[in-house]
This record gives sequence, C-alpha cells and structure tokens, in this order.
Amino acid sequence: MVHNGGTMGFETFLGNPQAVSVVRDMLGSGRLPGALLLAGPDGVGKKTLALMLAKALNCERLRDDFCGECNHCRKAEEMLAATHEDLERRRQMKDSGRRVEGLVYFDLQLIEPITRYILIEQVRQLRNIAYTRPFELRRRVLIVDQAQAVHWQAVDLLLKVLEEPPDTTTLILICPNAFELRSTIRSRCSQIQFVPVEDAVIANLLEKEGRVPASRRALAVRAVAGSVAKAKTFDPAEFERRRKPWIDFFDAVGRAGKPAHVDWRALFDSTKALTEDRESFEETLDMGYSLLRDLVYVLETNDEVRVTHVDLLPRFKTWAPRLGLAGLETLKDGLDEAYRSQIRNANQQLGLEALAIELLTRAG
Ligand SMILES: [Zn+2]
Repeated sequence: MVHNGGTMGFETFLGNPQAVSVVRDMLGSGRLPGALLLAGPDGVGKKTLALMLAKALNCERLRDDFCGECNHCRKAEEMLAATHEDLERRRQMKDSGRRVEGLVYFDLQLIEPITRYILIEQVRQLRNIAYTRPFELRRRVLIVDQAQAVHWQAVDLLLKVLEEPPDTTTLILICPNAFELRSTIRSRCSQIQFVPVEDAVIANLLEKEGRVPASRRALAVRAVAGSVAKAKTFDPAEFERRRKPWIDFFDAVGRAGKPAHVDWRALFDSTKALTEDRESFEETLDMGYSLLRDLVYVLETNDEVRVTHVDLLPRFKTWAPRLGLAGLETLKDGLDEAYRSQIRNANQQLGLEALAIELLTRAG
C-alpha cells in the first residue's frame, strides 16, 4: 500500500474530523461497540474509514491508530484485496444463480451487493463466521457496504446477529441514509454520521494531485460537492463535453428570451451522443438541472456562494433575467418530463426523439 509523503494512519483521512475522532476515542478507550453504522453521502470515505478502523483494531504496534507495516496491517490489506477480487469475479459470472456459491469470508471481509441485493447466502455466511475466532487477525471485522441493499429475506437474519453481538467480531454497516434501514437494525448500531467534505479540503486535494488545472479548480470543487471520490476522478474535459450542449442551449434560449420557443429537438440531438446508456443519460440530465439551479440562484438570491458553475457566472447574469422565473420553470418542466420518460423507458431505448416531438408539440 502506497501512501503519499510516507504518512500513515488516520491522519491521512480527508474531511469528517468529527467521525474520525469518535472512532479514535472508541479505540483509545477500548470501548468499541459490537456494531457500528456509518451513514452519510457517497464518496466521503465511509468505507475507507471502516477499513482503517479494521486495521487499527488489529495493529500490533498502535492502539488508536494503525501503522500499515506490521504483520496484521499487511494481512488486513491482503484480505481486502482478495475480497475485492472475489467480488469482481462473482459479479462477472454469467450464471447469476451461482454467484453466491462457495463463499469464503476472511477475518476482514467486505460484504457488498453481488447482484442488486446483498443476498441471504451472504448474510448466512456472515452469521456462520461471526461467532468463530479469527484465523489470522486479533479480531474479525465484517463490513456490510450498501446495507440498505440487504435483501428483505435476509434482514431478519442480520438482525439476529445484531441482537446477539459476537465477542470475536465487530460489525460495521455502511449506508447513505440511516433511515433507509429498518429501525430495529438501526437501533442496534452505534451511528456515526458523515457529512460532505469541506470545500477547502477538496481544493487542497485537487491542488496536491495537480490533475485539474488551476483555472478549473474552483469549478471542480463546486461540481464534486464534497465528495472526495468524485474529486479524485473529476475529469475537466469530460465535464466540459457533457456541459457544452447545455451551454449552447441556454445561450440560444437566453438570447431568444422566449422559452415558449425552446428548441428541445436541437438540445436532445446535441446531447444524444452523450446518452449511450441510462447512467450517462442521468448524468446529462443532472448537468441540465445543476445549470438551471444556478440560474435560479442568480435570478432569485444573488447568492453566488451556492452557484456550482462558477466560471459561467457572467453568462448566468445575462441569461437569467432574460429567461425570467417563468422561463426557468418551463425549462424545468421539460427536464422533469425527460426524467419521467427516462423512467418509463428504463433500460430500453431512451426515446429522446419521441420526447423532443412531444415537447415541441406542447410548446407550440
Ligand atoms: Zn500495524
């Protein structure tokens, strides 16, 4: 495992200092609850912190931290890699019925959805080993990522483990929103809440990585909205490619100043190349929504702090008053319609052509 600057341990974790100090206090006092629930938005490091915690629980040198170099720390890292490999192999199996065959769990184990759900076989295996002694580490740590995806048939089984906490194992559940879990599950875990990472931390990360040019950093910071994971993969060229058709569109509409004559067809034609699949269609629509939101902020509040596309502010100031609130609403209705049609056409043809015609008819 390679770490920047040779530093190790919890100090390398970005953001959410509150969550980190709660975890370290638990470790330091030796009073770690049997089950933890890490909740909060995607990309802020919930899984990363869970893995750090697993190492710290087992580190041979440190008590409320981990060294990354001792036998246990290295073993934990190997187990994690093996877990990832196994998950990947199973996800790629053609015969979905066999994906959960012969599950073998390590002392440190990541349990994630292999299909859409975390299946009963996975939870059964978790329960089988939760009460046994670890083989190579001091303590077992079973991490259930996307705990909201535990299949309903398996929830009771998971609850049973939480009700009779094993003394050899720490369970860590991870999910975006604690309220997506059944209250009986939630109430048996000590919850640690994560929040979006501060802009300054993200800006610092981008600067250190040096991948995003300085001129695009302010935009990147806003666009990733507190997600370290997104910051690490933010691609300015790709962002620009996805945004370009919308800029042209708003430019044209803003110049015409009459959203009744919105040229939806031109927009959807120009975004078609970006919408090869459902996910990219969603990303394309999200881009439209985020631009609209900015325009509303500029028009209504003058609250530039909340604007995502900071580099477009001068243009927003031209477009927004021309479009007016009514115009922005028309545009939002159009996007909502596109979104609904996307759900109707889920996983099939996106039907953009049909939608463009429908919107044109309505506008006319
Ligand atoms: Zn260690």
